[in-house]
Amino acid sequence: MEIKPMIRNNICLNAHPEGCALNVKKQIEYTKKNLKIDAQQNAAKLAPKLALVVGCSNGYGLASRICAGFGYGSVTVGLSFENEPSEKRSGTPGFYNNAVFDLEAEKEGLVSISLNGDAYSDEMKTKTIDAVRQAAAKAGIPAKIDLFIYSLASPARTDPKTGVLYKSVIKPIGTAFSGKTLNMMDGTFSTAKAEPATEEEIFNTVKVMGGEDWELWMDSLDSEGLFSANTCTLAYTYIGPELSWDIYKNGTIGKAKEDLERACCDINKKFSGKIRGAWVSVNKALVTRSSAVIPIIPFYISCLFKVMKEMGLHEGCIEQIVRLYRDRLYLMDVPVDSENRIRIDDWEMREDVQKAVTERMKIVTPENVFEETDIAGFKNDFLEVHGFLNSV
Ligand code: NAD
Repeated sequence: MEIKPMIRNNICLNAHPEGCALNVKKQIEYTKKNLKIDAQQNAAKLAPKLALVVGCSNGYGLASRICAGFGYGSVTVGLSFENEPSEKRSGTPGFYNNAVFDLEAEKEGLVSISLNGDAYSDEMKTKTIDAVRQAAAKAGIPAKIDLFIYSLASPARTDPKTGVLYKSVIKPIGTAFSGKTLNMMDGTFSTAKAEPATEEEIFNTVKVMGGEDWELWMDSLDSEGLFSANTCTLAYTYIGPELSWDIYKNGTIGKAKEDLERACCDINKKFSGKIRGAWVSVNKALVTRSSAVIPIIPFYISCLFKVMKEMGLHEGCIEQIVRLYRDRLYLMDVPVDSENRIRIDDWEMREDVQKAVTERMKIVTPENVFEETDIAGFKNDFLEVHGFLNSV
């Protein structure tokens, strides 16, 4: 059956199972070539034997799971929230990605369990804990999680204690935002406008995308005795260039990410001496299902990719996470910035890269957008995330 992408306002409504499979396999191959325990002495001591990835089916979470499993040979338990296919609709890409991950893991003799459900709920926390024990028993190893990745990108969260549903918004704080945005499908520009968020919207966004649920996960896993002195936990954030700060870093999402950093600090205090540590890693801007809907970001990324490809510095999710594990997390002393964050956005934020991107953004017009930006690369990556590759 021929499946064509159905795209509305930079959101893709369907997915191609075969393309999703190819995408996952490509990431596995890259990992096998570039991430090995024997390549690093420290990794041999610290590398995870059992990893839990919450938000495992796409983007940074998927890459994190692939690297733990296929790079370090870890047992992996993954949780995500995806739609199964029905007679009328295809499933979401993550549904197919998880199925392929489990199949490929089995071929390599790696134990993996994928769960589908709401990570914010108490019910899924309990089911995940059961799955961790089950996976450890199957692999014949102790039920101790040495790597816990928290990589959710969600528009809504029901608080498990109160039952209240909170929705996140992408809005500026204080003053209205107006910025150039790019339709990746046809190269047309429009102006994206957003009114400042209300106090309630800021609060709600922090509830969804802040650190509270990460802390709840830590408490649940700890109360079941699933941590060891080797346990590392990571959550991801983005900072980006100043031109995006009004809508991102200084906006509602930025407030939520500030709360994620607050949670990281509190986790480190609470679990001091009990686990190896908690970190927030600042990652590069990439095309995932979430990033294409943030105003200004598609235009910025199209220019960024052009510049980084020209400089030979371009990376996707899998390259980022390989470098994150190999050159940061699994060094004996994890290199961090002044705020205790891991920086794997270092190449994106390099002065020469940012200068070239700013220059590039100034000269782009609707007439030269296909030559002067990598809008083709943006579109390609966006379609690829949904399984629509050139070859399928
Ligand atoms: P993504 O959309 O590709 O993946 C999100 C994951 O969360 C999926 O596995 C999805 O199933 C899961 N999920 C969503 N709601 C859930 C729920 N209620 N229960 C269980 N699972 C749920 O997202 P991404 O772009 O990889 O983002 C992951 C993290 O990385 C986010 O914190 C994001 O802010 C951060 N980040 C992203 C970028 C970027 O450019 N994409 C850059 C830096 C940091």
